[in-house]
Amino acid sequence: MNRRIRILVVEDEEAIRTGLIDVLVFHGYDVDFAATGPEGLDKALTGKFELILLDIMLPGMDGYTICDRIRAVDRSQAIIMLTARTSDEDIVQGLKLGADDYVPKPFSIQQLVLRIEAVLRRSQAGLEQARTLSIGDIDIDTENLSGLHGSKEIAFTKREVEVLSYLARNSERPVSREELLSKVWGYARGLDLETRTVDIHIAKLRRKIEADPKTPERLITVRGAGYRLVTEG
Ligand code: CA
Repeated sequence: MNRRIRILVVEDEEAIRTGLIDVLVFHGYDVDFAATGPEGLDKALTGKFELILLDIMLPGMDGYTICDRIRAVDRSQAIIMLTARTSDEDIVQGLKLGADDYVPKPFSIQQLVLRIEAVLRRSQAGLEQARTLSIGDIDIDTENLSGLHGSKEIAFTKREVEVLSYLARNSERPVSREELLSKVWGYARGLDLETRTVDIHIAKLRRKIEADPKTPERLITVRGAGYRLVTEG
């Protein structure tokens, strides 16, 4: 085994933080932690972590702001948000800022470890994807995460590009949400699947690549089967 995988835990509640650290160390990870927002941001920006577990409600600076600041300089940093809030709006906010996943509190240790492993597997293996992805008249640079539609530039998150790449490779058929969770998010089958996560990403992507997101012509829904990407035309 090479260098141990480093995880940063940003959590102000001591009992939860200590519990997380114990579990992560037990699973062989190298763990650092921060108990306030500013300290978390500072460590995130100056250290090299394979994954950051980020609480939302923190003293000094909230997790959304921290996620946003990290993303401004490193779009590929793996981040899982820990949230006591579970309303759609909060989840959308977290994913919009580029979190790779979120785990609602209270969480089971097993559930959390599976998600951590999934995110790490995804971010370390990287998807086999072409450097340029063309969807109709939109060209996407899959490494720079930027798209060009005529002269209009579109910024994507890593996960969004992975979703589009997977759909593009399978453009001859609809892909189910469960398949996307398995192949793109790396979730093992039998997990309590969060298909809503997929829907939120699809909605975001439609706002970026569709002329009218309400009547999609590129990222279409195939009723009862999933989503299909129309790459030609
Ligand atoms: Ca908190």
